[in-house]
Amino acid sequence: MNLENLRQFIRDIPDFPKKGIIFKDITPLLKNGPALRFACDQMAENFKTKKIDQVVGIESRGFILSPVLAYQLGAGFVPVRKKGKLPAAKEAVSYVLEYGEDSLEMHLDAVRAGTQVIIVDDLLATGGTAEAVIQLVEKLGGTVLGLAFLVELTFLKGRERLKNYPIHSLIRY
Ligand code: AMP
Repeated sequence: MNLENLRQFIRDIPDFPKKGIIFKDITPLLKNGPALRFACDQMAENFKTKKIDQVVGIESRGFILSPVLAYQLGAGFVPVRKKGKLPAAKEAVSYVLEYGEDSLEMHLDAVRAGTQVIIVDDLLATGGTAEAVIQLVEKLGGTVLGLAFLVELTFLKGRERLKNYPIHSLIRY
């Protein structure tokens, strides 16, 4: 397995969830043992030399990869969830979607001042989601050491929006 043949495990689904969007479906990669292991190993590799306290995963596809990275790095896992799902006291941040607005939430005690985290999601598009999660972590006093994505849609320039943070992605379009 190498980075070039990892690409064949990402499937394009045109017009999902709505017309004009080409959805990058990662389930072919997830169901293949060697591809899944290789992808997780590569995503963790960039952070092995750093002391990571927590891996922050973004609902919902970010939840698939982030606990694996947490395990590999000897870190904890923290979920960032969509509005109304977390049970305990929480902090929220709103972000703009293509149509309208949404918000993401994190437990108040999930990250403490000085905690070093990385943020993980399946895919970087415009960077709006990741930017909102960075704000959440920083509001709680955490330090974002970097962000890891399986897929990056480079033409949407999410990397520019997140330019103050190290971004690692495995498969770029
Ligand atoms: P953005 O905030 O624009 O960077 O969008 C990133 C979020 O939307 C991630 O959580 C992705 O899972 C999802 N997403 C955006 N565009 C796509 C796409 N073309 N295929 C699959 N997921 C996408």
